[in-house]
Amino acid sequence: MVAGGSGERFGGPKQYESLGPLRVLDRAVEAARAASDGVVVVVPPAEAQREGGVAGGTTRSESVRAGLAAVPHDATIVCVHDAARPFATKALFEAVIRAVIDGADGAVPGVPVHDTIKRIDANGVVVETPLRDTLVAVQTPQAFRATSLRAAHSAGRDATDDAALVEQSGGTVVVVPGDPTNRKLTHPDDLTWARNRVAEELR
Ligand code: C5P
Repeated sequence: MVAGGSGERFGGPKQYESLGPLRVLDRAVEAARAASDGVVVVVPPAEAQREGGVAGGTTRSESVRAGLAAVPHDATIVCVHDAARPFATKALFEAVIRAVIDGADGAVPGVPVHDTIKRIDANGVVVETPLRDTLVAVQTPQAFRATSLRAAHSAGRDATDDAALVEQSGGTVVVVPGDPTNRKLTHPDDLTWARNRVAEELR
């Protein structure tokens, strides 16, 4: 569970914001615990002692590596999840884990893209317009064969998700149906949305 970010776009550490009776981080951890044998939580170094977690790094991938170092070596499947997605369900964890049990090196939840996506160069000039029905927006939790994930991270590279590193090292990553409500809390508006959603649940 990576919660080692500083919440730059959010304007503060969103992982400790309250969401009904729990904090954002605790809610994310609850689903992960329900679907697994154990959870390693990665937080900013200054908070590691207080949170009983592992000290994160300066990039997301570094934080994942710090967490991975604390995962027992006999773990056969490892999920990586962003604490910034507190609405991931136990069922979604189980779906990505199932796909790895069934033979993939990695499995990620994906949802259809509704906007047309363009690839641009450094000057903002469009280079390519990929066909929309070949694209998915990818979420966490992402599940991996532990050996594939450790190998993919061994070169110390950075990427915005772990699947990209596994793909680069030749692994097969499959997409399972994601959940549109498994939103990443990125901007303050997202927290307002999340709190309203939890208030609905409690009603
Ligand atoms: O920055 P981004 O939105 O990709 O962050 C996704 C997740 O990675 C968040 O849960 C954040 O706390 C975590 N993260 C981290 N260490 C960093 C940067 C981000 O654990 N250095």
